[in-house]
Amino acid sequence: MGHTFKLAEHFISINGEGQCAGELALFLRFAGCNLRCDWCDTAWACGKDAPHALVSLHRIAEIAEDALANGVRNVTLTGGEPLLQPHINEVIGRLSGLGMQPEIETNGSVPLEAFCAPHRPKFTMDYKLPSSKMEQHMCTENFALLHEWDTVKFVCGSRADVFRAKEIAEQYKPQCPLYLSPVFGRIDPAEIVEIMKEQKMGSFRLQLQLHKLIWDPAARGV
Ligand code: SF4
Repeated sequence: MGHTFKLAEHFISINGEGQCAGELALFLRFAGCNLRCDWCDTAWACGKDAPHALVSLHRIAEIAEDALANGVRNVTLTGGEPLLQPHINEVIGRLSGLGMQPEIETNGSVPLEAFCAPHRPKFTMDYKLPSSKMEQHMCTENFALLHEWDTVKFVCGSRADVFRAKEIAEQYKPQCPLYLSPVFGRIDPAEIVEIMKEQKMGSFRLQLQLHKLIWDPAARGV
């Protein structure tokens, strides 16, 4: 029997963040996360008991083919932490084989090297800043593996987080776009812009989570 994967939900929506923000994508949300960020907005998908269905590769391919038939070529693997699913490389390979463009939203704690071949997806990698209380789990070796089509997302919940993002970028010099994403309701985006100006952070882009602006911030499946 083939491997199965813990799929918490799947839906088509627009990408809320990253380089493909605003484009339609199929979202595959996998259950389970190794971190517990202070401001997590998908905590329901993180625990051991997170609701999910055990799905086969065949079922995932069916979902993907349906999305393709509806003109959707982007597919975002998210969570939780999608790279914790055993054999997730098989999913990435199958989705690529179908002609989709996989993007992995990863929390920055999982070493990415094992996922860079044979079908290298795009990575949107979080770097968890101090307000998350998870910074000690970040795998900084990952920075050297990122390319121009990847993204580092610094999720900022405080002013101190923005300053720390600058320090980290200066230290590791990732070769990809750098986004600052305010935690909804925790920091005013205007404050981030002020710090960007003061601190000469011209290599960063501010990005608001589109789905929080378009729909109810607590809505699921959008
Ligand atoms: S890594 Fe993401 S899913 Fe996991 S606890 Fe943090 S915000 Fe939530």
